[in-house]
Amino acid sequence: MTKLEQMLDEAGSVVILGHVNPDGDCMGSCLAMYRYAKKRKPEARIWVCLKNFPEKFSYMDGFEEIKEDAGSQPFDLCICLDCSDKERLGEFAVYLESAKKSICVDHHVTNTGYAQENVVAPGASSTAEVLYGQLSEEFLDREIAECLYTGIVHDTGVFRYSSTTVKTMEIAGKLMDMGIDFTKIVDSTFFKKTYLQSQILGRALMESIRFMDGKCIFTVVKSQDMEFYGVEPKDLDGIVDHLRTIDGVECAIFMYEIDTHVYKVSMRSNYVVDVSTIAAYFGGGGHVRAAGCTMSGSIHDVVNNLSGHIEKQLLAENADD
Ligand code: 5GP
Ligand code: MN
Repeated sequence: MTKLEQMLDEAGSVVILGHVNPDGDCMGSCLAMYRYAKKRKPEARIWVCLKNFPEKFSYMDGFEEIKEDAGSQPFDLCICLDCSDKERLGEFAVYLESAKKSICVDHHVTNTGYAQENVVAPGASSTAEVLYGQLSEEFLDREIAECLYTGIVHDTGVFRYSSTTVKTMEIAGKLMDMGIDFTKIVDSTFFKKTYLQSQILGRALMESIRFMDGKCIFTVVKSQDMEFYGVEPKDLDGIVDHLRTIDGVECAIFMYEIDTHVYKVSMRSNYVVDVSTIAAYFGGGGHVRAAGCTMSGSIHDVVNNLSGHIEKQLLAENADD
C-alpha cells in the first residue's frame, strides 16, 4: 500500500486541490484522484476544489462536482496535486492549513515540499504519471483512465516533450487498454481551438519579436487585446509552444497582462536553457523546459530581465563547448 492510500484509508474527510489556473495535468490528476478516493472510501466526505478551469475538460467524471469556492470546514486529509508551492493553491490554501494531514503528489523540480508528505518525481512527465504509481489497479476504471490519460497527454504535449519516457508510454498504453477514446481526448482538449482562440494565437505569433540572433522570441497579449477578442487566460494555452517550435528558437517567452504593468510569464526551452531556475529566481517555478512566473514592470523591463538570465546560460553553454 502506498503512503497516499494509507492516508486516504485513515481519513474520514478528504479535500483534493490543484494549482491556480489548472491545466490538463492538474485537472486530470485531481479528477482521477477524486473518483479513486470515492471508490476506495465511499463513506468519506470527499471534495475536489478548483477554479477558472476550461469547459473543454467537462467529459471527465466528477467535473460537475468541482467546488469553486473555498469554505471554512476543515478536512482530515488534504491532497495537493501538480502544485509546486503553497501560494499556487490560491484561495484553497486555507484547506491545507486547517487539514490534520496533508500529502502532495507532484513532478515539479521546484516543489518546495510544503505538505507533510511529499511524493515528488521531478523526472516524471506529469503528475498524472506519478499519481498512477500511487494507486492500486483494482480501483482503476475507464473514467479514471480518461483523467490520467488527459494529464499525461497535456504535460507531454501529446508525447513530444523530452520528459516522455518508456514508462510514460507504458502507462499510457495501459490506460488506452481500459477502453478510453484517446483520439477524442487528444483532439478535443489539446488541438481543438475556438475561432477566437485561433485569432488571438495568430495575432500573438504575428506580433512576436525575435532577439539574440533568433535564439529567443517573445510575444505579449495585453489586457485590451484579451478584451477585444473576448478571451481569458485559459484561452491562451499553447501560444508559447508555437513560439518554441519556430526554427532556430532555443527559448520562447509568452506573457499576458494580468494587471497594469504586471505580467504572467510562460517560458519554454528546447535543449540548453533551464527555464525553471529563471522562473524560480523571479518567484515562480516549473520544469527545466517549461516554467512560469509573475513579473512587474514594463514589457521592456520584463523581457530585459529575463533575457539577461537566458544569455548568461547560453554563454556558459558556449564556453563549455
Ligand atoms: P505554463 O507556462 O504552462 O503556465 O506553466 C509551465 C510550468 O510552470 C507548469 O508546470 C506550471 O505549473 C509552472 N508554473 C507556471 N507559472 C508558475 C508560477 O507562477 N509559479 C510556479 N511555482 N510554477 C509556475
Ligand atoms: Mn503537471
